[in-house]
Amino acid sequence: MKNNGGYFGEFGGRFVPPALEKSLQELEDAFYRYIEDPEFQAELKQLYKDYVGRESLLYYADRLTKEIGGAKIYFKREDLNHTGAHKINNAIGQILLAKKMGKKRIIAETGAGQHGVATATVCAYFGLECIIYMGEIDVKRQALNVFRMELLGAKVVSVTTGTKTLKDAVDAALDDYVTNYADTFYLLGSAVGPHPYPTMVREFQSIIGKEARQQILEKEKRLPDYVIACVGGGSNAIGLFYPFLEDQSVKIIGVEPAGFGLDTPDHAASISKGTVGTIHGFKCYTLQDEKNEPLPVHSIAAGLDYPGVGPEHSYIHASGRGKYTAVTDEEALEGFFALSRTEGIIPAIESSHAVYEGMRLAKSLDKDKIIIVNLSGRGDKDVEQVKAFFEDPNCPYDMKKFLKK
Ligand SMILES: *Cc1c(COP(=O)(O)O)cnc(C)c1O
Repeated sequence: MKNNGGYFGEFGGRFVPPALEKSLQELEDAFYRYIEDPEFQAELKQLYKDYVGRESLLYYADRLTKEIGGAKIYFKREDLNHTGAHKINNAIGQILLAKKMGKKRIIAETGAGQHGVATATVCAYFGLECIIYMGEIDVKRQALNVFRMELLGAKVVSVTTGTKTLKDAVDAALDDYVTNYADTFYLLGSAVGPHPYPTMVREFQSIIGKEARQQILEKEKRLPDYVIACVGGGSNAIGLFYPFLEDQSVKIIGVEPAGFGLDTPDHAASISKGTVGTIHGFKCYTLQDEKNEPLPVHSIAAGLDYPGVGPEHSYIHASGRGKYTAVTDEEALEGFFALSRTEGIIPAIESSHAVYEGMRLAKSLDKDKIIIVNLSGRGDKDVEQVKAFFEDPNCPYDMKKFLKK
């Protein structure tokens, strides 16, 4: 694999203080060495099979397709992975690399807790020390995920500086990394950050698209017309898209969280509404104020509310290879209800953004067209929140209409 310095057009790169440069260079060297190593690839393949439970199904949604009456909708079932989402594909790849590099401590930061849980899971599997940084406010909000991480043997460090949320947890994790990098590996959860992270995360997630491409060729004897995925930092989406990039007949659609609407400040649609800037050590479309500080963002889906987006998505958008749309909280809820009711599959509220976009698009297409939607995770974690909305008389979303068609 060619090392392009982490640039996708003008996006990406590595903009970090000199103290971080040395550890990231070591990581970059190790990544490009091991990603070509047949033994590393064989071990990774074995882990995907025996621990993650791959390959995941490519599922034809017959009832949903018939109800909508347009294009055929397939789901790539990342919700069926161990721990219930795509995040483990990346966590298991990075920790295998950490082991090869001889690292003894794994650190990560988490907001909603999903990446913390995935990291703690693979640390338990490998028996490695695991430290998760989390803002004090998030620790309180996500008490169940904190306990999950502790069950898995991780130490959760509550960060009490600044705003006591994800931003400060990132700073605390970076401090740790700079101080302890000789024996420490920083496990990053999405296709963002300084080089080599976006490329590395894409490589570990691209198993999604590789499988989907082969599975659709087996089932339909042709490539799909569209591939669709939700975009937070962009790891599940680039994992699906990447193996289709050269197939010009396959249209790419990334779905950003529109929150309460793109005409309000309450969304996290970095490509649709952002400008080009630098955030967390790389260049991308980002939602920033005049002082280049990240703006507060909102989405009903905790996994999607990030004020930046992976550099490769920024490039896919800028180059015109793909299109980025946006789906509101309320529309995502409609997708959540529709898939549950028609197929017996409760999707993660993040994935529900892609589900809704798939439904909307299918309706506008002929029956001979084929869409693959990435089901990035299962919705068990969201049922309680959706129920609370449903029963709240002041709920901002009009949900009663979703129950029965
Ligand atoms: C974290 C998460 C996402 C968003 O992250 P990406 O890096 O954009 O994929 C999407 N879906 C689920 C289920 C998640 O847990």
